[in-house]
Amino acid sequence: MRSGNQGNPVLDIRSLSAAYGEVTALDRVSISVNRGEILGLIGPNGAGKSTLIRVVSGILKAKAGEVLLNKQNITSYTPSQRARVLAVVPQARQLGGAFSVEQAVLLGRTAYLGFLGKPSKLDLEKTYWAMEQTEVTHLSERKLAEISGGEQQRVLLARALAQDTPVLLLDEPTNHLDLKYQVNLLTLLKSLVNKQNLTVLMAMHDLNQVSGTADRVALLVDGCLHSIGKPEEVLTPENINETYQTKVESFNHPRTGKHYIFPMM
Ligand code: ADP
Ligand code: MG
Repeated sequence: MRSGNQGNPVLDIRSLSAAYGEVTALDRVSISVNRGEILGLIGPNGAGKSTLIRVVSGILKAKAGEVLLNKQNITSYTPSQRARVLAVVPQARQLGGAFSVEQAVLLGRTAYLGFLGKPSKLDLEKTYWAMEQTEVTHLSERKLAEISGGEQQRVLLARALAQDTPVLLLDEPTNHLDLKYQVNLLTLLKSLVNKQNLTVLMAMHDLNQVSGTADRVALLVDGCLHSIGKPEEVLTPENINETYQTKVESFNHPRTGKHYIFPMM
């Protein structure tokens, strides 16, 4: 097992433990993510992926260990300071409330809003840009509660992009999306990472989407880091069989050479 700690990480998760009451959800997990890197977080249901994202986003307190964001402990940031560095796309849930799509995306600009919260020209530009990138512009006047799960998922991404941060955390962002929007979202993310040198930590469900998108993959099981490395190093039939109790075969795509797995049914 490799620790994955190398170079000069933007996000340095050090021996992090977290619990809900008596239930340990993360047990001494160490992962670092470098600038310009997409790190995919995988693991069976209940492995601790969302918990890790919650602690790194500063909404859940760690029981032990620490998270350094640009070398500074995440707990020492004010919410507004944090919101200028790190944006989160949470695991999809039913969004309620009377907000319109445009108002919800504009919320991504909260940390930048001036006196009386009036949006500037830049706030509106970033908001419209994010809505275009995520293909929700045509929904701008619709109420959040009155759009589909996939559309809500894209609004959550738009809100995070409007925040215009160098670090993005995403929790299963392709859930609820049909194939076209899954591909569009992952393509958009890769192009933003390339253009803006973003640092991305993304929990993902689909192992082949992880292989196609992430530079490195961290496999969590029962709150512990099982393995971390390049997709072909982590997504081996042995590891998948052991951790997901599922038999798979692996192969390399004939054209791209990317590593993919196929379940044996
Ligand atoms: P994943 O996102 O990998 O599916 P989670 O981080 O959501 O896993 O969950 C990790 C563990 O913590 C699981 O055992 C889960 O049941 C437990 N858990 C998650 N959220 C809560 C909560 N709000 N209260 C109590 N236990 C929770
Ligand atoms: Mg989860």
